[in-house]
Amino acid sequence: MSEIRVDFNRPEPFGRELEYMAEAVANGHISGDGPFTKKVHSFLERELPVPKALLTTSCTHALEMAAILLDIQDGDEVIVPSFTFVSTINAFVLRGARPVFVDIRPDTLNLDESKLDAAITPQTKVIVPVHYAGVGCEMDAIMQIANQRNIPLVEDNAHGLFGKYKGQHLGTFGVMATQSFHETKNFTSGEGGALLINNAELIERAEIIREKGTDRSRFFRGQVDKYTWVDIGSSYLPSDILAAFLYGQLEQRDQIQSHRKTLWETYFTALTDWAKMMSVALPTIPAHSDHSYHMFYILLPNLELRQKFIKYLRELRIYSMFHYLPLHLSDMGKHFGGKPGDCPVTEDISDRLVRLPFHNGLSAPEQEQALEAILEFKT
Ligand SMILES: *Cc1c(COP(=O)(O)O)cnc(C)c1O
Repeated sequence: MSEIRVDFNRPEPFGRELEYMAEAVANGHISGDGPFTKKVHSFLERELPVPKALLTTSCTHALEMAAILLDIQDGDEVIVPSFTFVSTINAFVLRGARPVFVDIRPDTLNLDESKLDAAITPQTKVIVPVHYAGVGCEMDAIMQIANQRNIPLVEDNAHGLFGKYKGQHLGTFGVMATQSFHETKNFTSGEGGALLINNAELIERAEIIREKGTDRSRFFRGQVDKYTWVDIGSSYLPSDILAAFLYGQLEQRDQIQSHRKTLWETYFTALTDWAKMMSVALPTIPAHSDHSYHMFYILLPNLELRQKFIKYLRELRIYSMFHYLPLHLSDMGKHFGGKPGDCPVTEDISDRLVRLPFHNGLSAPEQEQALEAILEFKT
C-alpha cells in the first residue's frame, strides 16, 4: 500500500499570505476595515464587477446581513433548495422566516426553476438560489419569475466565486449575493465571507448593520462628526489579519483557478469510460456555464454502493465525502412540515453523491493515486 495519504481538503498558503499577515500587524491596524480589507473590497468590486463588496466574518453572517437588509419578519417565507448548507436558510429563520424548500434539477443539482412558480405565495419575501459546485443556476428563468412576482433574489454563491452564467459572474445577478472564504472553499481566510451588493440603495444600511448598527463608516469618511447607534446590527467585520491572508489568496486567482481546472478535467477525462461501465454519473456542466471548479463529485447508483465506495477509498487512505442531507428532512426541516417525498430529487441525490479529494494543495501524484484506486473499485 502506498505511503501517500490523499486528503479530501488541505488548506495551503502558496503565495504571500503569511507575509501580508505580518504586514497587517506591522501596519498597526489589525481590527476590521484596515488596508487589506480595502484591497479585498476593491479587488472583488473591480473583477466581478459589483457596486459594493463587504468582507464579513463568514458567508453565514453575510446571509444574516442580507436577511436584516430585506427586513425579514415573522411569518415571511423564504424559498431555498433543500439540497444546501444549513446557513442558506438558517440566516432567514433567525429573523422569523419560514423555509419553503424547492427540489433541485437532476443534472446540475441546482434549484429547479420549473418548480419555483408553484412555491411562491403572497408571503414569499426572497428566493435564495445556490450555485451548487459553482455551476450557475438557470438565472434567465429564475430572474424572469422573480422579476414578474417582484421578489428579490439573494444568491448563495459560497461555491461559485469567479464562475459565470452566460458570460456574467455569479454573484452579480441578485440584489445581493454571499461568498464564503471558509477553508473548504476555493479561496480562504480560514473563516470568512463577503456580502456583494448589486442594489446601490442597500449599501449605506449594509455598512451600518455590519458596524454594530452605528454610522461609524460615515464617520470615518468624514460625512458625520460623531458616530452613533442608528439601526439594528452586529459585528460582522473580520480582522485585517484575515483579510491579509485572503488578499494573498485572491492575488493568486489565476494560478489557483488553473490548478483546480486541471484537477477537475483530469478527473473528468480519466473517469468517463469507467463511469459509463459502472452506471456512475459525472457532473453536468451546461454549455452556457463557466463553472468555478469548486468540487468534483460523482453519483453512484445507490446508497449502498456509495457507502461501500467511501469505505473502500478510506481503507486506502484516500478521503472522499458525501454532501448535504436534505434540509426538509432534518429535525428543523420536519419542524417546519418537511416530509419524505417533498423533494424526491434531493432525497435521491443526497444518498448517491460523493465528493472526491479536491483542493489547492492536491498534487498530480496524489490525484493519480486516487484515480488508480477509483478505477479498481468493484461493485
Ligand atoms: C460553505 C457554505 C456556506 C457557509 O459558509 P461559512 O463561510 O462557513 O459561513 C453557506 N452556503 C453554502 C452553499 C456553503 O457551501
